[in-house]
This record gives sequence, structure tokens and C-alpha cells, in this order.
Amino acid sequence: MTATDPGPTPWHALSPAEVLARLGVRPGGLTEAEAAERLARFGPNLFRRTPPVSPWRILLAQVRSLIVLLLLVAAAVALALGDPLDAAAIGAVILLNVALGFFTELRAHRAMEALLALEVARASVVRDGDARELDARAVVPGDVILLEAGAAVPADARLLESVELRAVESALEIETSIAERPTMVYKTTTVVAGRGRAVVVGTGMDTEVGRIGALTASVVEGATPLERRLDALGRRLAAVAVAVALVVAGLGLLQGASLGELLQTSIALAVAAVPEGLPVVGTIAMAVGVRRMARRRALIRHLPVVETLGSATLICTDKTGTLTAGEMTVTDLRLAHEAVSVPEGPFTANPDVLRLLRTAALANRSTLVEENGTWRGRGDPTETALLAAARKAGLDLAALRAEWPEVADLPFSSARMFMATWHRAEAGLLLCVKGAPHRVLELCTSAAGARGEYPLDDGERERLQELNRELAERGLRVLAVAAGKVAEPTDPPAGLTWLGLVGMMDPPAPGVPETIRLFRRAGIRTVMLTGDQRLTARSVAAQLGLLDAGARVCDGRDADRLSDEALREEVVRTSVFSRVSPEAKLRIVGAYQERGDVVAMLGDGVNDAAALRKADIGVAMGGRGTDLAKEAADLILEDDRFTTIGAAVEQGRIIFDNIRKFVFYLFSCNLAEILVFLGAGLAGQAAPLFPLQILWLNLVTDTFPALALAVEPGDPGVMRQPPRDPREAILSVGMLRSIALYGALIAAVTIVAFSLGGTTCAFMTLALAQILHLGNARSAGPVLAPRMAFANRTAVGAALLAIGLQLVAAFFEPLARVLRVTPLSGREWALVLALGALPAIVGQAAKTLRVFRARRRPRDEAPR
Ligand code: ADP
Ligand code: MG
Repeated sequence: MTATDPGPTPWHALSPAEVLARLGVRPGGLTEAEAAERLARFGPNLFRRTPPVSPWRILLAQVRSLIVLLLLVAAAVALALGDPLDAAAIGAVILLNVALGFFTELRAHRAMEALLALEVARASVVRDGDARELDARAVVPGDVILLEAGAAVPADARLLESVELRAVESALEIETSIAERPTMVYKTTTVVAGRGRAVVVGTGMDTEVGRIGALTASVVEGATPLERRLDALGRRLAAVAVAVALVVAGLGLLQGASLGELLQTSIALAVAAVPEGLPVVGTIAMAVGVRRMARRRALIRHLPVVETLGSATLICTDKTGTLTAGEMTVTDLRLAHEAVSVPEGPFTANPDVLRLLRTAALANRSTLVEENGTWRGRGDPTETALLAAARKAGLDLAALRAEWPEVADLPFSSARMFMATWHRAEAGLLLCVKGAPHRVLELCTSAAGARGEYPLDDGERERLQELNRELAERGLRVLAVAAGKVAEPTDPPAGLTWLGLVGMMDPPAPGVPETIRLFRRAGIRTVMLTGDQRLTARSVAAQLGLLDAGARVCDGRDADRLSDEALREEVVRTSVFSRVSPEAKLRIVGAYQERGDVVAMLGDGVNDAAALRKADIGVAMGGRGTDLAKEAADLILEDDRFTTIGAAVEQGRIIFDNIRKFVFYLFSCNLAEILVFLGAGLAGQAAPLFPLQILWLNLVTDTFPALALAVEPGDPGVMRQPPRDPREAILSVGMLRSIALYGALIAAVTIVAFSLGGTTCAFMTLALAQILHLGNARSAGPVLAPRMAFANRTAVGAALLAIGLQLVAAFFEPLARVLRVTPLSGREWALVLALGALPAIVGQAAKTLRVFRARRRPRDEAPR
């Protein structure tokens, strides 16, 4: 920076007019042409992302792996012992191992990076004098943007006007300097309350956060907990392998073997035991899972949540638009003195009804737009339902807003539960209010009846509340409408007259009761949190099947009064919370978490963001969710459907299952190899297999067929099991027992083959036994069951390929020579087949038996 550099413009200190002048913008915003020119000049409104995981880092990780180090030592030993052929073969194996590991991992990483949904924001921008929705990346300096609660601030901007505007940092969870510069809003913050208009002064890297480069930290993600656990498991196993190698070497020493022999055997053993592929299988299984979720329209934003999904025990969800269709229709009006049903088509309304609908249309932030002949709502469905009713009664909405220009407002918020607008009238101001009935009633001093306005006494208030209860009991969402003539705006609004109640219907979304049942079978509870009142909530919950088994409804007001401890007691029996405030949502989620629940929270409003962040799994709707909710979420349901979260949970469970299958398979194979050497060593026999043969087996019959387990489609029973405890080890006691059993069995058939037919016989038997063991590791059911047999084509293909390669090793002269494979007689091949198939036959028989037993006791949990 030179001495003459004026430094960054102090936008916050300039007046709006000066800011506009410096940016060369009229108050009405840019034209599309100007915007296009600026976009070319300043570039898209994007942070330069941190580079994706570099190929070099992945390659380095391969080269630095334990297995490669062991192999290098083995090659050096072979060379020192005057065996260049072996050394070269080991060298080739190293290359192959590194190359395969590298490409597998690179692909998994790239697939994942492509899938993670990072950019979600849209922006409301004035162009050519009209407000329009744009991709936030298209915003340029000079754009006039509109801000409202729930919207992400797309760029750094100077406020031109604002009402109760509050923006918070969302991605970085720190307070910004808005307090110090009340005239500015910054990119990466989100509006949580109020509304405003601002002019963009900086985009992309030319914003406060872009300059600090602070966002990088929030975008790159390290290894997930699961990957770290797999890593730790692998290291522990490698340590065991080295210990066993030392024992076998000790045994050999006692029996007077040569040092060279000993070294070779120990290295072969260590190689046999190191679980190659263990670190990468987590990445692959997750990449596969994330892709499958994306295909079912569930987009993952934070990778670790993939793992958490599988252990979710409870789903907290809002009601409107999630459990219900969110397509609201006004069906009933209750004036103080008359009941009116609203038909599907146009209807003639009396002056009192017209006044109510006009008020509801004025205290309204949404619009109706005509799209090829039909009217569609834009904005809040509650509000567009009111506009639609007003239109059916013959009101002209545009004329209405022109006749009574708005001069002030109190925006709607979930905490306030009502909104108010003030409009210029012939004398003074017209005040319009709509909101939750109990809140509006508090504000009213009189009501409009058949013979004009009359003051409200306690009896009359009770009667109006009874009218409200009648509508709510039918499951209708109820809003109250009130109006007044005032001299000036006040907070809270004063001098209101009750005009009546509006009841609107919101039918249950298709598939929701079924999904709630599916979750219940899967040991996952569904809890509804709604801003609607108790009776509405109860009625809707009953329709959805949420109130089975004696579950209760708790009113948010009552929950607010409970101590943390009492709330923890309360949440156990409660499946529905009505009239919940944002703070109550947060407390309820926290109460469940303290009870040990893994909570998924579904929400899409501004009021949900804090709870979304607090929950173990934050879920937002892709289409309807506010930017704030989407920013806070870990998972986005692109199709806005509750049922989609079921697919995500299912995939979350499958991923963990598949990693377990892989670990089970790999560990039993490695154990078998160790036991073969240990058994022979203890029996005082020579090593049954050559080091290079073990290497070959590990590559051909172990690791790569095993990786095919990462793409298993999942057992049909995954959603009939209870959720997995997140603290549960990857290897359960039961799994350890099966690993020991199969390891011993495979080792036993190999040793028998060795003593009956020599090294080649043992080599072929071990290979076959391992390849067929893949079927044991797959689903809980028998592989030969018709549904399962070809469910995972990759695994079937990998097994066939491995058998083919083993045959090449047997019959392709040059390879056979390197691997020291000698020709086998027909009798010996028969022996290999019989012994090699034995572990698979035992495994399939055991599974068939288990499935058979489970079928006889249908209420039993699924096998495994
Ligand atoms: P939810 O949408 O989950 O019911 P909210 O916090 O958005 O929860 O709404 C709480 C209550 O506020 C609603 O039950 C309704 O009575 C009232 N309300 C909702 N939307 C509006 C709105 N746009 N204007 C006025 N009142 C509203
Ligand atoms: Mg709402």
C-alpha cells in the first residue's frame, strides 16, 4: 500500500446518498445490462474455495502407509539374501498397491467433493426497478438488495433503510461488528429479524470475510470421527501383527531356523496381518452413501453427519409444510356474531367479512402472481392463503395496497406471534394486525359485532376463545385479525378492534404417517414442534398417528415454566409440543440430548436455526427452507419431503453396516493367515506359504474384493433394528467371536491342505476359502437367497475376478514361477475345492439356520 492509497472506503460513515453516488447507482438499483457489465468487471460473488484435497497428499499418504514400509523392508531383505526375482516382484506389488490405493481414494474424495452441497444462498435483488430472486453468485457491487428475516446477506452492503433489522454471523458463529457499524451488513451473516434495503459495496473476495480468508476453515473438513476410529483400529491391529511376528520368529529361533528364513517369515506375517484398505474403506463407504442419499434427494452438507444419521434415535420436526402439505386454504371465518364457510370458488361477502379479509391482506408480506391462468402464492403459505381468500371475495389486492400505502410495520416473528402494519388513511393511520389468537386478543379492547363495535369484557373474551377452540379442534390453523384507527405507530400496537378468526386447513403430507410408522419400527421417535395452538396440534398429530401409545401434548407456555430437570421428565412422555417459541425449541432439543437421545431436527424457518445447530443432525428443506436454516443444517432435503429423511437414516445405517462387513471380512482373512503361520510354527513345521504368496493373497483375494463390501445395498432389515449406539465399537464382542471362529476355520483347512498336498495346495485352498468367505461377510441372510445373490454385482464380479486371477497364477507359467506354484493333480484340485469351500458352507448353513429361526419368532430382531 502506498502513502497516497486512500485505503478502503469507509462506507459505514457515508450517507446513503453519498454511497449511491460513489457506486454510480440510482436508488432504484441497476439495470440488467449494468449488472452484466459489472459482473464481467468484478467477477462472480464467490469466495475462492480452498483447493480440494490435493492428489499429492493422497499419494503421499499411500507411500507413507505401514504396508508399503513393510514391503520395502521385505524387498531389501530379499535383495540382501540374493533373491532379485523376489525383490522385483515385491517392488511390483508396492507399485500396484500404491496405484490402486491412490486411485480408489482419489475417486472417493472427488465424488464426495462434488456431492457436498455447499452453495445454497439466493438473493433478492432490485434490477430494472423490479425485485427478483437471483443466485447469490450473480450479485454485483451497486446492486440494491432486499433483506428479510431468514435470508442470507449475499454481500457486504450499506443499509439504505431498515426496520428492526438484525443479522448474525452464521457460518463462523461469532458476532460481527454490526453493533459498531449499525449501517452495514456483511456477507456470511444472515438476517434473523426485521427487514431492510441495502446497496452492495463489495462482493466475493472483496468482502470483510473474503479479505480475512476466514471462511476457509468452515469449508474444508478433516477426517470424520469414523475415519479416525478406523485408523486407530488399523494401528492397533498392526501392533498385534508385529507382536505375533516376533513370537513366530522366537519359535523359529528355538527350532534353529536360519536368520534369513526367519526375517522373511516375520515380514510375510506382518504383511499378512496389516489391514490394508482399512483407512480408505471409510471414505469409500461414505462416498457411496452420500451419493445414494443424493440420488434420494438428501444432500449432505457436513460429512460427519453421515455417520450420526445411522444412530439417530429421535426426530424433532416442525409441522407446517413438513408433516403437512403446507398448502393452506382458508375454510372458515368466525366473526364475533357470525360463522362463514369459505367455498372453493368465488363468493359474495358481506361488508364485515370484506373488512376482515382486507385487513388480513394489508397486514401481509406475501403476494399472489398469475402464472398461465392460475394464481400462485409467493411467500409464506399462511399469508398467501389469506390473500387467496380475499381474492375469492372479490378484493383487488394491488388496488388495496395502492389505496392504503404502508407507512410503518412490526414484522412477524415466531417470538412475537403477530404482525402489524400502519397505512395512511384519510384521517390518521389505519392499523392492521393478524396473528395467533391468544396474542391478538390480548391487544384488543373492543370487537366488531352485528350492531357495531362494543367493548370486550371477560365473558366476551371467553366466548371468542371458545370460537377459536372450535376451529382448532378440527385441526385448523387459526389466526385472528384486528384493526384500528390510530394517530401514530406504537409498540405494542394499541386501540385494536377484534374483527374475527380465520381457520385454514393444511392436509397431512402424503406418506408421512407411513414414515412415522417406519421410524417407530426402527426405534426412532418422532416429536412434533409447532407454533400452532394445542388443539390444532393435537388434532393434526392424531391424524398422523403421532399420539399412539398414550403420548401427550405439551403446551410451549407450560414447557417454559418447567425447570430444566422437570422438562427432561416431561419430554419422555410427550410427542407434541404446541405454541413453541424458538427458545423453547432449543430447550426441548437440549432436554432430549441430555437424556441420551441422538436428535435430528427438521425445520426451515428463522426460528429454527438455533435448534438446527444444536441438534446432532440439523435438517432443512431445500426448496422452502430459509437460507438461515439451510446454512445451519447438516442435511438438506431437496424435495422438501419428510419421507426423504427416512432414506437418509437408512443409508446412514447401511454405511456403518458395510464398514463392519468389510472389517469382519478383512480381519477374519488376516487372522487366518496369521494362524496358519502360528499353527505351523507351534507344530514345528516349516512355513506353509512363501512371503510372496501371502502378498499375492492380500492383494488379490483380500483387499480389493473386500472393498466391494462398501457398496453393499444393505439388508432388508436395516430399518427394523434399533438405532446403533454412537459409542458402540466398530468391532462388537459378537463380531470378534465370529472373526475368531472363521479365522480358525480357514486356517484349519489351509493347514490340512498343506499337510496333505504341500505348499501349492495350501496356497490354492487359502485363496478359495477367502474368496468364498466374501459371501459370509455380506448381508445377514444367506447369499443364495434369491434376493441377495446378485444384489451386489460389484462383490460378485470381484469374487469371479479373484478366482480368475488365482487360476492365472496356477496356469500362467511366468507368474506361477514367481509365486513358486507347482502343477496340481486332479486329486489335489478336488482336495482344494472341498477344503476351500468348507468355511463358506459352514457360514451359509449358519445364516440359513438363523433366518429360519428368526422367521419362526417374527418379533425377534433381525439376525446378526
Ligand atoms: P409454525 O409456522 O411452525 O406454526 P410460527 O412460529 O411460524 O410456527 O407461527 C406461530 C404462530 O404465529 C402461528 O400459530 C400463527 O398463529 C401465527 N403466525 C404464523 N405466521 C404468521 C404470519 N405470517 N403473520 C401473523 N401471524 C402468523
Ligand atoms: Mg411459520
